Amino acid sequence: MSWAVGMLRASQRVGSVRANCLCPGMVLSPRQPAGIAHRGAWPTAPASKMGTVKCELMKNFPSGEPVRCNKISIVGTGSVGMACAISIQLKGLSDELALVDVDGGRLNGETVDLQHGSPFVKMPNITSSKDYLVTANSNLVIITAGARQEKGETRLNLVQRNLAIFKLMISSIVQYSPRCKLIVVSNPVDILTYVAWKLSEFPQNHIIGSGCNLDTARFRFFFFFFFFLRLGIHSESCHGWILGERGDSSVPVWSGVNIAGVPLKDRSVDTGTDKDPEQWEDVHRDAVASAYEVIKLKGYTSWAIGLSVADLTESIVKNLRRVHPVSTRIKGLYEINEEVFLSVPCILGGSGITNLIKVKLAPEEEARLQKSAKTLWEIQKELKF
Ligand code: NAD
Repeated sequence: MSWAVGMLRASQRVGSVRANCLCPGMVLSPRQPAGIAHRGAWPTAPASKMGTVKCELMKNFPSGEPVRCNKISIVGTGSVGMACAISIQLKGLSDELALVDVDGGRLNGETVDLQHGSPFVKMPNITSSKDYLVTANSNLVIITAGARQEKGETRLNLVQRNLAIFKLMISSIVQYSPRCKLIVVSNPVDILTYVAWKLSEFPQNHIIGSGCNLDTARFRFFFFFFFFLRLGIHSESCHGWILGERGDSSVPVWSGVNIAGVPLKDRSVDTGTDKDPEQWEDVHRDAVASAYEVIKLKGYTSWAIGLSVADLTESIVKNLRRVHPVSTRIKGLYEINEEVFLSVPCILGGSGITNLIKVKLAPEEEARLQKSAKTLWEIQKELKF
C-alpha cells in the first residue's frame, strides 16, 4: 500500500468508524513497509498540520475501501519499461502504477521524475521498489527486464541467463498478484513468454507475448510510403499482418493483405515474393531492418514498443476485445506440435487472450511458421528450469 493510498484508506476507515472529524494524520502515522523506496506523489507535510488543514477544509463521508481494478506494474525501468510507463500514463489506463528494478538508483530517479510529471496526467499514485510487494494486487504486470546479449554469446546462453532472472521475478509476481495478466516484452520475446508460462503455471490466456504487435505496426507504417507513393491510399485503409516469430523470421501474410477486402495477391500471385517486379516484399524487409536502424542511431528502441504495449494494455483494461498479433501458445495449429509461443491474431480483453483467429495461411507461410517453431523448440528443449 502506498503512503498516499495508506493515508486515503486510513482516513476512510476513520471516517467510516467515527463520522466526526477525526484527523487521520493525528491518529495513524503512515506505515511504510520495508523496501518501498518511493511511494505516492504527494509531498510529506507534517501529519498533524496536514490533519488540521484537512479538518478545516473537508468533511468526511463514510465509505468503503476503494476498489482498485487497474493497477499495473512494470518490471524493468530501462528505456522500454519507461516508454511503456509514460504511454500508459498518457492514455490514462491505470489508477496505480508500480515499478520494479534491481538497479535502485535508476528506479528511484525514474520514479521521482514520473511523479513530478503526474499532475499533468492525473495519476498521482506511482510507487516503486526493488521489493515485489509493491506490485501486490496488480491487474496487469508488464515484464521488460532481462539480461542483454553479451558479445559472441549464443541465444541459448542468453535465454538460460534470462530464465534464471525470470525464476525469481515470476515467482514474486505470482505471489503478490496470483490472478494478474502478464505481458512479456523482454527478448527473445517468444521464448521468454513460454518461460513465463511454464514458471507461473498461469492459464495460457493470462500470458501474452508482445510478439509481432510492433512488427505489424512497422509493416503498416512502411505501407504508408509504398501505398501513398504508388497508389495514393493511406496506410490505414490497407490491411496486413505480420505473424509468427518476432523479429527477423517474422512472416508477412501476403495472402491476407488487402484494400477494401480486395487481396493484393489478386493483382499478381507473385506479390510479396522475389519474383514480384514491384518488389512489395521490400515493405517487410524495411520493417525488419528499421529496428536495427533505430538501434544504430540512438542505441535502443523505446517509443514504438512503449506505445504498442500501451495499445495492448488498453484492450485488456477496457475489455475491448480487439484483435492483436501477439505471442500465444500455438501447439496444435498449423501442424505445429512443439510447445512454442508464436504470434497470431488474438482477441484481447479483460481476461487476457480469449480467442485466437485461425488465419488461413498459404503453404509457404505455414512452412515458415513451422520452421520458426522448430528453431524455437531446439532452444527451449535445452533449457534447465
Ligand atoms: P535496458 O537495459 O535499458 O533495461 C532493462 C532493465 O531491466 C534495467 O533497468 C535493468 O536494471 C533491469 N533488470 C535487469 N535484471 C532485472 C531483474 N532481475 N529484476 C528487475 N529488473 C531487472 O533494456 P531496454 O532497452 O529497456 O529493453 C528491455 C527489454 O525489452 C530487452 O530484452 C529488449 O530486447 C526488449 N525489447 C523488446 C521489444 C519487443 O518488440 N518485444 C522491443 C524493444 C526491446
